Amino acid sequence: MTRTHRLSRLSLPLLTLLLAFTQAAPALAVPVDALPVSAAVPGGVAVLPTGIQAVAARYRESRVLLAEVDGQQYAVIGIPLSATPGTHALELRDAAGNSRSLNFTVTDKQYVEQRLTITNERQVNPIDEDMVRINRESAEMNAAFSRWDESLQPVLRMRAPTEGVRSSSFGLRRFFNEQPRAPHSGMDIAAPEGTPIVAPAPGVIVATGHYFFNGNTIILDHGHGLISLYCHMNTIDVAVGQRVETGQQIGAVGQTGRVTGPHLHWSVNLNNVRVDPALFLLD
Ligand SMILES: [Zn+2]
Repeated sequence: MTRTHRLSRLSLPLLTLLLAFTQAAPALAVPVDALPVSAAVPGGVAVLPTGIQAVAARYRESRVLLAEVDGQQYAVIGIPLSATPGTHALELRDAAGNSRSLNFTVTDKQYVEQRLTITNERQVNPIDEDMVRINRESAEMNAAFSRWDESLQPVLRMRAPTEGVRSSSFGLRRFFNEQPRAPHSGMDIAAPEGTPIVAPAPGVIVATGHYFFNGNTIILDHGHGLISLYCHMNTIDVAVGQRVETGQQIGAVGQTGRVTGPHLHWSVNLNNVRVDPALFLLD
């Protein structure tokens, strides 16, 4: 008996139900896109099923984002670039106050070197006066990165914040004018000056400024420790406290601060750790 014959014997209501079920099937793919790509490496994101209904999670003294997808709870953990490969522990707490530790393995990842030449020597070796400004600005940015806003429901898969050539430059061990400096903490997207920059996910603007290294900068809080950073902008089109939706313009590409050409520097911060933004991109 062929499949067609079998189907013809089904009652119409049952057939309708089957068809409705078949048509609804693509929606099941959505939860896969609801979480970032899991990559338990230094500078990556570990996505772990908690196995319990936790009300709070901590990793290295910071609160960790918990996401509910298809009735399953996941901890979404930012791993610092400085992390040592090996066994790491996530601390979970349930509503009754019971704690349990969940171990996970961080595997090694080698990041390559990048050597850049900066013509403005003060941007490589700042003078004392610059250092006062740099320290004040980094304290401001660190305060923004350590926020924990429960009122915002984070969207964990993002669209690209601008059209352009994406480098896979996160984590590069950088040398400016042959001098070692901090590794690259974001993704660079090269685009002509004035190219629109949009919010890759909804959130609230928590800081804007003109910073020594980062130039015109925006910090966008998505909630639960997920916070993104936009640097070297030509214009800033939003104000602190403003709520933005996915795709809403927040500024334009520029070359302010320490740059070698016009581009957007985009960082993604999770539990106060800068992680690879590529893990959050939808495409
Ligand atoms: Zn950059």
